Amino acid sequence: MENKKTVVYVILDAFRWDYIDEKNTPFLFELTKKSVYAKKLKSSTGFTQRTAMFTGIAPSESDVFTVFYRDPDNSPFKFLHKKSAKLVKLVEKMTRLPHHFFCKLNKLVRDSLIQSNGFRRCRFPIVANIPLNILPQLSLSEDQERGLWYPGSLGKIETLFDVLYKEDKNVSYLMYPIEFCGTTEKVMEGARRYVDDQDDLYLFQFNDSDDLVHFCGVNTQRRRDICRDVDSGLKQLVDLFESKFDDVSLVIIGDHGMSDVHKSLDVERDIKSIAKKNKLCLGKDFLYFLDSTMLRIWWLNNKAKEAFTSLYNKPLYKENGEWVNDELAEKYSIPGPGAKYGDMIWWVNQGVMIEPCFFHPTKNPVKAMHGYKSDYEDMKGFALCRVEGVSPKQIEECTLYDICPTICDAVGVRYPNMNKAKSLLK
Ligand SMILES: [Zn+2]
Repeated sequence: MENKKTVVYVILDAFRWDYIDEKNTPFLFELTKKSVYAKKLKSSTGFTQRTAMFTGIAPSESDVFTVFYRDPDNSPFKFLHKKSAKLVKLVEKMTRLPHHFFCKLNKLVRDSLIQSNGFRRCRFPIVANIPLNILPQLSLSEDQERGLWYPGSLGKIETLFDVLYKEDKNVSYLMYPIEFCGTTEKVMEGARRYVDDQDDLYLFQFNDSDDLVHFCGVNTQRRRDICRDVDSGLKQLVDLFESKFDDVSLVIIGDHGMSDVHKSLDVERDIKSIAKKNKLCLGKDFLYFLDSTMLRIWWLNNKAKEAFTSLYNKPLYKENGEWVNDELAEKYSIPGPGAKYGDMIWWVNQGVMIEPCFFHPTKNPVKAMHGYKSDYEDMKGFALCRVEGVSPKQIEECTLYDICPTICDAVGVRYPNMNKAKSLLK
């Protein structure tokens, strides 16, 4: 059986370009010398890196930008509306009480009620701490009807998976949000289970460099230890494939960087006080969303518009971030403000964190974050590509979009129809 060729694609989540060195990541360090190595990788802006890396286009073109957007008609969480609004409100209040018991209740309610109901229409919604009364207004941009790795998942926009399917290639998708992504143990469990399928492409994701570094910070010994563990996990994975295949091509990336947080801001307080003062009702007059690095507000009528646009001139927002306008959106290749992603989008400066936000629990403060402007050095990942017959070389910088055609070249298939990026192998 050992005569086949395969490609192993590995995402080291939030693995910043400068984490690689001889001492902490010896395996990766050696690999960079044998590969086409892009020292830095500029990520896409927003929170939908997978769409960028599997289509080769920017959020402005795919219109896939943040995980959640406003779409009450097609929300997979619509069923929450049908249940008694009063009951939802009561559960929402209870699950937010600080006692240990209520924290457990919160998780239980979300895991069982929402995840299982939402699951019927959309795969694996991460509803985190999004208020239950907001959820029925929201839809998911990725993995909606079915996972991104299913053919046809983005409609007219062709993905890498559409191409692989059309060209009869076999794929094992074992990265986010599949259960085998995460720790080395999880990744290896998936790898051992599927390695003998002899597929043309395997996709894996190590998450500790994201999940754990959020809570310890970048400039710490703990972070270096985490990187060392990820590096040795990666070695185990590559060793396994090299023992089962004659020819293993590798594409390994850090999909974005990470930056230490030095300031957190409670902007929800402002939203609530404006709403109260103007007698605006959440869900009926306006909607807001707290991504960790973005505040997004939708006006559902003129009264709300008038009230919330007062924030444009508030010094706190000018000093700690920028309001996204069409010019800024164009610069970072993201959709501009509007009905889908928010009529007002405030984007924080590097090192600032919106707290509370809908994703990270306030009781365990975050020490490092990503989702800042993609051209900050701290926000950059790396990429390397080791393919038989391709000479090693080092380039200064590539983009996340370039990964799409690179994987295509490594597997030997054509590029998705919208791809605009350049392969590292050409
Ligand atoms: Zn993260």
